Amino acid sequence: MNTHQRELSATIDPVKLDRLAEVAVRVGLNLQAGQDLFLTAPVAALPLVRRIAEHAYKAGAGLVTPILSDEEVTLARYRFGPDASFDKAATWLYDGVAKAFAANTARLAIVGDNPMLLAGEDPAKVSRASKANSIAYQPALEKIAGFDINWNIVAYPSTAWAKQVFPNEPEDIAVAKLAEAIFAASRVDKEGAVAAWEAHNATLRRRYDWLNGERFASLHFTGPGTDLMVGLADGHQWQGGASPAKNGVVCNPNIPTEEVFTTPHARRVEGHVSSTKPLSYQGSLIDQIQVRFEAGRIVEAKAVRGEEVLNKVLDTDEGARRLGEVALVPHSSPISKGGILFYNTLFDENASCHIALGQCYSKCFVDGASLTPEQIAAQGGNKSFIHIDWMIGSGEVDIDGVRDDGSRVPVFRKGEWA
Ligand code: ZN
Ligand code: ZN
Repeated sequence: MNTHQRELSATIDPVKLDRLAEVAVRVGLNLQAGQDLFLTAPVAALPLVRRIAEHAYKAGAGLVTPILSDEEVTLARYRFGPDASFDKAATWLYDGVAKAFAANTARLAIVGDNPMLLAGEDPAKVSRASKANSIAYQPALEKIAGFDINWNIVAYPSTAWAKQVFPNEPEDIAVAKLAEAIFAASRVDKEGAVAAWEAHNATLRRRYDWLNGERFASLHFTGPGTDLMVGLADGHQWQGGASPAKNGVVCNPNIPTEEVFTTPHARRVEGHVSSTKPLSYQGSLIDQIQVRFEAGRIVEAKAVRGEEVLNKVLDTDEGARRLGEVALVPHSSPISKGGILFYNTLFDENASCHIALGQCYSKCFVDGASLTPEQIAAQGGNKSFIHIDWMIGSGEVDIDGVRDDGSRVPVFRKGEWA
């Protein structure tokens, strides 16, 4: 962190920042006494890293181990690295991370990197580096996707991200505004944040309990540029808010979160769908996506911006063209109401209904923890190196739940729970 960033971090309310750290540790992770914590963050987020370390040790953490990333170091690779660099990844590090997860270490990620950091770099290099990284990360990612341990993601307003969200404001105002938006969305803008999260988790639970009772065979999305039938996986289970990891710890993986979500059937998605918000993917912006599905597979993909990146992503592996998640978020969610495009999936996915390309969550199956990967695949669960959420909801989208016998139940009307 340089002097400039330190000055800007002075514009961030320290009381709310501390509350965010407390919510991350107590609600997001529900860190257990004696449990170790592995955390990653951009260098700019150091003030939050320090608050989190304090709350973690107060909660009885065994050992807190942070790893910080720096934008200048990332860019140096693209500017000066040899060609062979772009097929490399820190496999040794990820192997250690997977080992730590196997030993019940909790995982916290602070996001807030510049969403456009790699926008000017060679898309082929970006995609090679990302693929190498995904492959190296796979053993650790499987433990996160399989929900073996309690994990959490929170955000910190770095300068470059704040300037992307509020381009017309000077840096200090942009950082202060993004900080307030993050605090409001993360429900730490008022006192009693931990209790507010308990109430919010109860609301989400009522919604997914209803969906689990209905056992829809598919969801039919209709709206401008969208007529999409999303078959749901056999034995799918809806989730949202707090849920128990396989290590028995009930945690909130995402702060904020407004979604209830489940696993679509990888081979039963038909029709076409248009994105309703731009997707910021590893430094590139992909906007106005239009795709067509046949038997669960994307057979046609267009985007007004970032089409090349989109098509490279879809070619990552066989599962990258199929869905691994479908999620419902009312258009009136606090994040949507704020009207801010965050250029960050953690926030933007909670402003809108969305689908995700790639890997499914095994916890979104009835008795998911006891199913083998083969059983999950047989029930329609998708497998891929990627998991990328993009937004398809708006105030104009209707959703019907379709039962096995073809009868329909309104689920959403004009972007709200029906
Ligand atoms: Zn989601
Ligand atoms: Zn997702």
